[in-house]
Amino acid sequence: MLSGQTFVVIGLGKSGIGAAKLLLRRGARVIALDENVDASPPIVDPRFELKAGPFPAEFWKGATAVVVSPGVPLSKPELVAAKAAGAQVYGEIELAYRTLPAGAGPILGITGTNGKSTTTALLGELVKQHVPRTFVGGNLGTAFTLAYESPDEKPYDLHVIELSSFQLEGVQDARFKVSAILNLTADHIDRYPSHEAYGLAKARIFDGQQSGDFAVVNADDPDVLRLSRRAKVPVYAFTLDGQKTNPGFSGLAVGSGEKFAFTFGVPAAFTVTNRALRGAHNLQNAMAAALMARLAGIPDAAIQRGLDSFPGLPHRLELVRERGGVEWINDSKATNVDSSLVAMKALEGDVWLIAGGKGKGAPYTPLVESARGKVKGVLTIGKDAPAIAAAFAGVCPIHDCGTIEKAVAQAAEISTRGDTVLLSPACASYDQFNHFEHRGDVFKALVRGLS
Ligand code: ADP
Repeated sequence: MLSGQTFVVIGLGKSGIGAAKLLLRRGARVIALDENVDASPPIVDPRFELKAGPFPAEFWKGATAVVVSPGVPLSKPELVAAKAAGAQVYGEIELAYRTLPAGAGPILGITGTNGKSTTTALLGELVKQHVPRTFVGGNLGTAFTLAYESPDEKPYDLHVIELSSFQLEGVQDARFKVSAILNLTADHIDRYPSHEAYGLAKARIFDGQQSGDFAVVNADDPDVLRLSRRAKVPVYAFTLDGQKTNPGFSGLAVGSGEKFAFTFGVPAAFTVTNRALRGAHNLQNAMAAALMARLAGIPDAAIQRGLDSFPGLPHRLELVRERGGVEWINDSKATNVDSSLVAMKALEGDVWLIAGGKGKGAPYTPLVESARGKVKGVLTIGKDAPAIAAAFAGVCPIHDCGTIEKAVAQAAEISTRGDTVLLSPACASYDQFNHFEHRGDVFKALVRGLS
């Protein structure tokens, strides 16, 4: 219990509120600081105090620790000053770790630029085949700080946690029984001074690991390989390259098509024929999750069962319905060109692509190249429709639809048996929708409503 202790929580978003609630449950006093927050406190409790506006001087004085939300960079001058003055400064994942109930099982942690949510949900599915009392959350779903609603709740036997680089910045001693870095591509360049700094934030996942723990990395990603040298524990890798043999790894998962195999311990082969896991990127996610599961002691048969039963996540290559021999797929999560490219590679052909929205300024050319010969036509929506039309000019017919309603109606008219209609916008949704989930939900409702 933390009675008599005071904690300062910085930032009152989803995870800051989670941290504050956890601390109150454990008996602590909480002072929440947020520079831009409405005056009304989100929590009603005599031990909770909200201070909106600039941070008071020496706000850390008398506090056991300053718990920082992932939205607030630790490089913020006030936090640097707090640290320099000797205050304990860490993030919500560290707080959740430090306050785990006695007897709580180990944590499996997943990070990377892309595929975190899919791999986390999939790993949850794999381990639950064998360990039903598993908590799955973190950046995805329920915040880790909200895993235990009361201090005497029965501990989970395992925790599967998705970790963003922002969350990992605030990790100190948190120990991951199995850690994984899936991939590393340019992202969050607004928050980090360099690609290297972004990678180093992710590599903090290795810092608290101890003897008996394991790391899982992508052997096909040179940046991840470089980071893996920071791991102090045995490293297992997954690859799509059958020729790969790297003596630095303790074991490999090697995949191709709809199969992969473990080449260490007792060799084992798995199939990935589940439609929710189509595409080479999902084979990588499947290998990462399967390696983590095996290293956590899950039997291979349970892993195969979970690979087969995984329902997939909404808005990521999600099959909405089959209508007259046409597959309708919702990939609204594709808010940039890279993600739509991944979707395009995962599909075989005869695709009607619905794309557009609030563009991010990246060229559409790579998408056009991978769409060549596969795409029967593009139906454009939203603000960036002219740029997409220009990029696809001469490659396939373009239908200027403007709205998703028109695009669905038109696609229903022109598609024929054997075709796929894919919503993979390559753009953010904010010009016409609240967020990508909203866009995907509207699409699904329209598609389900087709007679
Ligand atoms: P995250 O939680 O990291 O954003 P998701 O699982 O939600 O990842 O997937 C987001 C998008 O990233 C998907 O729609 C897909 O386009 C792409 N993606 C998923 N897995 C991978 C992967 N292993 N490598 C590259 N891209 C991927």
